[in-house]
Amino acid sequence: MHGFYKWIKDKAGGLLKSTAKSFIPQWDYSSKERGPENWAQLCHDFCTAENTGYQSPIHLAMKKSSTLDKNLVEFSYTQEIFRKSYYNHTLQLESTGFKNTLVVDGSTYRLHNIHYHIPSEHHINNQQSQLEFHLVHRNAQDEIVVVGVLFNVEAVEEDVLKNHSSADSQWYESKKHVALNPAMLLPDKKSYFHYQGSLTTPPTRGNVKWFVFSDSLNITQKHFQKLKNHLSDSFNNRPLQELNGRTVWYHS
Ligand SMILES: [Zn+2]
Repeated sequence: MHGFYKWIKDKAGGLLKSTAKSFIPQWDYSSKERGPENWAQLCHDFCTAENTGYQSPIHLAMKKSSTLDKNLVEFSYTQEIFRKSYYNHTLQLESTGFKNTLVVDGSTYRLHNIHYHIPSEHHINNQQSQLEFHLVHRNAQDEIVVVGVLFNVEAVEEDVLKNHSSADSQWYESKKHVALNPAMLLPDKKSYFHYQGSLTTPPTRGNVKWFVFSDSLNITQKHFQKLKNHLSDSFNNRPLQELNGRTVWYHS
């Protein structure tokens, strides 16, 4: 091969390789071609991830769960400043100091981001909620724990997302940041479902430890609408996935 064309070919090969590595195809929630039914067809990575078999979200039912006597998760949450960013079709609150952690099975996981889905992705006892927050944690081995909390819109005087006037209060929002203690997003009663699942946005990689609280929280219509306005579509929930013989645990 002529030197010049060989150079072009090598260069193109290199470019293709480097693009292929970081290439994430466009996906969404509502279109026929790029919606959840077709995520696995969009690229090799998405396909491999979905074929792990243990996918999320799932329907969680107390009656069908196995009792978990021992508590598996210890939270260590505190006030922290989170940076707002937009990806995966929703508003994400990125940790700036990794001050929030939890411990599962002796391993410490740091809280990386908080985001939400409308309506909820998990269903509990045949009920879907209007909103679900996800708190995504990673440990040193890059293993993932996601904590899910469901919210319903209720006419309450005050809700957890009320904007306070200073950063040492519970929720303080500026244009680019939100200061909050993630503990405010957890219900008082710490009963939860626990199971092995996946991320719910592509690539929906598996081996994610899920903890979804059975008690939901309330949010006012005003704050719900504010969160909804950040979405790039009218909804961003992945449909329910098959259980495929998994055990779902319930800790009361
Ligand atoms: Zn999520």
